[in-house]
Amino acid sequence: MASTEITQHAAVPIDHVAEGIEGLRIAFVNVFGVRHTDHHWTLIDAGVPYSASLIRNWAEKHFSAPPIAIVLTHGHFDHVSAAGELADHWNVPIYAHQLEAPYLTGEKEYPPPNTGAGGGLMSLLSPMYPRGPVDLSARLRLFESEEESRVLPNWQIIHTPGHTPGHISFFRGSDRTLLVGDAFCTTKPESFFDAAVAQPPELHGPPAYFTSNWTDAILSIRRLSLLQPRILAPGHGKPLAGAEVEQKFQSFASNFNPDHS
Ligand SMILES: [Zn+2]
Ligand SMILES: [Zn+2]
Repeated sequence: MASTEITQHAAVPIDHVAEGIEGLRIAFVNVFGVRHTDHHWTLIDAGVPYSASLIRNWAEKHFSAPPIAIVLTHGHFDHVSAAGELADHWNVPIYAHQLEAPYLTGEKEYPPPNTGAGGGLMSLLSPMYPRGPVDLSARLRLFESEEESRVLPNWQIIHTPGHTPGHISFFRGSDRTLLVGDAFCTTKPESFFDAAVAQPPELHGPPAYFTSNWTDAILSIRRLSLLQPRILAPGHGKPLAGAEVEQKFQSFASNFNPDHS
């Protein structure tokens, strides 16, 4: 599978990814807080099961108020599990793309994982992952266009299907920061559990065992490359920044062509 290694020094600390962006790594997945003003911020994604109190403690330490909303890149269990509990606690809405709605309202389950894909522990364990149905309908609001939203001012909402039908990414033009959820990773899926190991970050496609449409996934990565991002904040792997990252992402995107048919 196409991948691109990047030197270790391109990794940036998760608690200061870019201006106003702080992340938290929980087990093998990242959540991010995006600050708009001193008292306004938005939580991007909501972690694995049983992470609600971790996210709450982190939020109380780093932000002076509850977020104005929780925004989900997509509905997989490792990105949404604390969303309902946190939204109830903070009394805030949960936003997602309209095509992701059936998986967030209890209507539909994701297709079964492709356990042969990608290798590693995450793939082997994937039949055990909850696939839904998750029901967040009481708080769910839908993004219906790619326009900016009140809950993410100055960010472009970009539909990046492939990993899931309603997957979205977020781009801030002022410093070319890209929050990508699972559109791609900056680590091999085999390495999800040992990011502490000093191995170079690596641009890698979306987690394979759960990616349902590879044609769309490839197009989404190409589309993101047209934005010429310079700071990459993924759901899995370390956040990366700098000129080398910008250039490596371009070649990764133009060569990415996995065989998962
Ligand atoms: Zn996912
Ligand atoms: Zn994920």
